[in-house]
Amino acid sequence: MKKNSTLSQGLTNFIDEELIFEEIAKAENPSPNLVREVLNKGLERNGLSPFETAVLLKNTDPELDEAIFETAMSIKQGIYGNRLVLFAPLYITNECGNQCEYCGFNAKNRDLERRTLNSDEIRAEVEVLENQGHKRLLLVYGEHPKYDADWIAQTVRDVYSVTTDKSGEIRRVNINCAPLDVAGFRKIHEVGIGTYQCFHETYHRETYEKLHTGGRKTDYLWRLHAMHRAMEAGIDDVGMGALFGLYDPTFEVLGLLHHAKQLERDYGVGPHTISFPRLEPALGAEIAFNPPHPTSKHDFKKIVAALRIAVPYTGLILTTRENAEFRRELIEVGVSQISAGSRTYPGAYSDPEYDRPDVQQFCIGDNRSLDEIILSIAGEHGYVPSWCTACYRMGRTGEHFMELAKTGFIQEFCLPNGLLTFKEYLEDYASDETKAAGNALIQREVEAYDDPKRKKILMDRLARMEAGERDLYI
Ligand code: SAM
Ligand code: SF4
Repeated sequence: MKKNSTLSQGLTNFIDEELIFEEIAKAENPSPNLVREVLNKGLERNGLSPFETAVLLKNTDPELDEAIFETAMSIKQGIYGNRLVLFAPLYITNECGNQCEYCGFNAKNRDLERRTLNSDEIRAEVEVLENQGHKRLLLVYGEHPKYDADWIAQTVRDVYSVTTDKSGEIRRVNINCAPLDVAGFRKIHEVGIGTYQCFHETYHRETYEKLHTGGRKTDYLWRLHAMHRAMEAGIDDVGMGALFGLYDPTFEVLGLLHHAKQLERDYGVGPHTISFPRLEPALGAEIAFNPPHPTSKHDFKKIVAALRIAVPYTGLILTTRENAEFRRELIEVGVSQISAGSRTYPGAYSDPEYDRPDVQQFCIGDNRSLDEIILSIAGEHGYVPSWCTACYRMGRTGEHFMELAKTGFIQEFCLPNGLLTFKEYLEDYASDETKAAGNALIQREVEAYDDPKRKKILMDRLARMEAGERDLYI
């Protein structure tokens, strides 16, 4: 049944399926006492084992489900406060040689118009995004033999090269591309990427092999070891994920946690972020219209809450695949980063011809503009939108970041830095309504600040921003 290439020869499969099935079986019908015990352990913020996480996912008592949500909310609030990091995806190419049954970009889809942006087109897209106020982008690529690591590195350079009026620049480029070899990862590390992101889709090997029928992505082990190679190449921040809907969701969560633990064992640090896309209808991908393992909203919310408790210091990323109302619920229970104003077709930000629903990678559930999203999250819900990139620029990444995160550093640095980037956004890009709501929120946040020395530094920098200075951080 194995169609693997020679790429993965000698690599071991550290996803022990038997162990995962045992953990799931042991967690079936957990007693209320066991669930409470796990929640109490979670509150210590040292994370949970895969088995303990399965206990939460297997609970069926509605009251205890509420307790799971409340625990996740309190951990989220304690570690991240009300800050929410924002980014936009930038699709560079939808050409792809792989045959992933769930994705509209798969090579068999003859109905999709293929497009790969050249340097000028990339720069045009970045200009539009900068003019909306974005500072952090996630570049997304299909996997095609024509496009190698040198080419990817050049696209990153193109993005960083664009500066526009006001504070227009991209300060962190994250990447979601197919796994490279160590030399390739070094090339993209050298051009200054932030996080390397790659989703394993499904950790269940038989399902994986059934759904990936052509191209390089057929090789389960080559993909499984992608994060290891990225770290070997010096990329400190890696982002994992699974695509929910393909296989049993509890199995996927445990797969993610075992993967994270293996990285921790081998490199001393787990993933910087975890993503959990839910399968969405996509043109030319039949399975996406009829997921074999549909995940209900309730179960999905529990997955997010359980992950927040299991890996308290790992960023949890949500995309515009989910609609606005549900996104808010998921933010409450643990999500710390969201995408906003997204388009999933190369060129769709700058060229209206490509801004059509029928060409996007999948259906987008939240179509609001960045400004509308900010008005809603800041004005109605009191979240501080953040475009902060200070840690990355000051070398606080990987293991170093995790150590700092555990000492209350996020509250001490991330919140004020988030407020400073929010102020910058309000000054340069916000509509009048968003500006008024945002400034009121900043004012409330500053008043609530209890460290007088830090409060003074923050007030001073906010005033300097108002006077025209930019890119200030602590
Ligand atoms: N080609 C690269 C790869 O496969 O790793 C990166 C780009 S791919 C477009 C990014 C992610 O989109 C995939 O890892 C998958 O999880 C997600 N995706 C694909 N089809 C999807 C669908 N129908 N609904 C939601 N997410 C999907
Ligand atoms: Fe290509 Fe990635 Fe889509 Fe698979 S998921 S078809 S590799 S773009």
